[in-house]
Amino acid sequence: MRAIVFLLFVVLIFFIIRFILNRVIQIREHNKKLAEDKKGSLAENTTEAMVRCALCDIHLPQSEAYYDGKDTFCSEGHMHKFHHQKNTTTTED
Ligand SMILES: [Zn+2]
Repeated sequence: MRAIVFLLFVVLIFFIIRFILNRVIQIREHNKKLAEDKKGSLAENTTEAMVRCALCDIHLPQSEAYYDGKDTFCSEGHMHKFHHQKNTTTTED
């Protein structure tokens, strides 16, 4: 008799552990999904910030662009070239 009670007790514990494990896995997967969604929206935000080079009209991410306080450029060289062109045209006229 004692053996049967012990067996039932073991089976009961087994089912409880299985239920808890399933819940833990469910919560983990849910959190993982939420974290991935957050990452995805962050990536979208970074790709959205695009600026245009004032000299060659090429589009590039804002983080890679050069900003002189008024215009954005794809490279330092284009920034200097743009200012040089501007200065020479205004002084020649
Ligand atoms: Zn450029």
